[in-house]
Amino acid sequence: LIPTLLDEPYEASGQPQKAAPCTGTSIVERNKAYWSTQPRPSLLHRSFHEQPVVVASASQNYLTLHDGTRILDACGGAAVAILGHGNKEVVAAMTEQAATVAYVHTLSYTTQAAEDLAKLLVGHKPGGLSKAFFLGSGSEANDGAMKIARQFFFERNDPQRTHFIARRQAYHGNTWGPMSLSNNVSRLVPYKDILMPNVSHVSPCYPYQYQRSGESDAQYVRRLAAELDDEFTRVGPQRVIAFVAETVGGATSGCITAPPGYFSAMKAVCRKHGALFVLDEVMCGMGRTGTTMAWEQEDGDASPDIMTIGKGLGGGYAPIAGILVHQDIIDQLDQGTGCFNHGHTYQAHPMSCAAALAVQSIVRREGLVQRCAEMGKRLEMGLKQRLADEPHVGEIRGRGLFWGIEFVQDKSTRTPFDPALKIGPSVQREALELGVNIYPGAGTLDGVKGDHVLIAPPFTVTEAEIEAITRTVLEAYRRVVSRPQ
Ligand code: PLP
Repeated sequence: LIPTLLDEPYEASGQPQKAAPCTGTSIVERNKAYWSTQPRPSLLHRSFHEQPVVVASASQNYLTLHDGTRILDACGGAAVAILGHGNKEVVAAMTEQAATVAYVHTLSYTTQAAEDLAKLLVGHKPGGLSKAFFLGSGSEANDGAMKIARQFFFERNDPQRTHFIARRQAYHGNTWGPMSLSNNVSRLVPYKDILMPNVSHVSPCYPYQYQRSGESDAQYVRRLAAELDDEFTRVGPQRVIAFVAETVGGATSGCITAPPGYFSAMKAVCRKHGALFVLDEVMCGMGRTGTTMAWEQEDGDASPDIMTIGKGLGGGYAPIAGILVHQDIIDQLDQGTGCFNHGHTYQAHPMSCAAALAVQSIVRREGLVQRCAEMGKRLEMGLKQRLADEPHVGEIRGRGLFWGIEFVQDKSTRTPFDPALKIGPSVQREALELGVNIYPGAGTLDGVKGDHVLIAPPFTVTEAEIEAITRTVLEAYRRVVSRPQ
């Protein structure tokens, strides 16, 4: 039997469940053994050399692997599965939609599911955001956000605005536009020379590594705002379309929250130069940080002109992401061409909209955003109690049920590990062997160095599961750092 820290696995219902029998050695070895019995896969996996683990089924907050091993899903993919897996109400809504209208083209048609979902998200005009546009992925949403921002200035007779400013620690997606905004260096290698030329990057907001000793939060924010201001000036007057940032950084940053006033200061710089302020909440949005929109928790006026959402919107039940657009932009387009010059075959797909509508209705009915905030406090406490004093744990940071742990070689100087050691991915691998799924991260420092792991369990996570997660992460970390480096 494989040793697991999930001594008493719990389903979301709180009922203890029997652990499935696991025979053999490690998950990795059993997975290799499984693939050795299979024909060569026709599916193009990310790695040609390491085959992914086959998940046979998923229910509530657990995955069951091909050999019966049960894994507590403490990151829901990458902060996607906010309701856990196999929610019957969502499945029923999708089934009904499939049987009613599975697909129509949005050039001429719409469905009630799409209209209702948009109304639920922006019917009350949060921060002036008044229209929603649905697509299949966060990358598509950010691509569309870039295009509607450009169209806004084009139709306002400002066609010279062609430039975007993003941050050096950013992940906005893998299609060409968002990839150009991003700085996830390993993902950019073959494309570096042919990214969009009209993008530049400023410093991330990364207090743990970049706030100077003795520098107050207010001084740090002023320094970052001045840098953005300088970048607007360098690019040229009225050349910038928008500044784009993740409200709480995810994949490349490990849940970095900004000091008070950072986002309102950045928005003020955008306003000074007549540019738009765009927030990417594909990962941190839809309740993940304890409020529906992550920017709601920022000091001052941090509401975006355009924001993008994704992962938690449909909770993984169907591919769906969205662009939420401020009324002022809609008015401009309305007075101009009267259209958004963009579209996809599968935009506002009825099945995806029905899934997201069901997910979001459950979230509201069950008060799960509030629950996320409350359980998030327990997760924070558990992680800090167990890991904060460990010699290679640099910082534990996050908000709601969105937590990152940054690992450092030297805690006193905050020096990162050599990237070749792959500390973040190794901790993730060990946690998996111990029965808990967390998300690995690297490239925290300017996309190159720096390791972290990301913990983002479903909003339905129980106290017992939080206990299992924190215990497992500590054990996984200890196993990794106790190996000879
Ligand atoms: N933006 C952020 C902040 C993300 O974290 C991601 C995905 O991880 C994306 C955009 C891209 O989303 P997708 O992978 O759905 O294209």
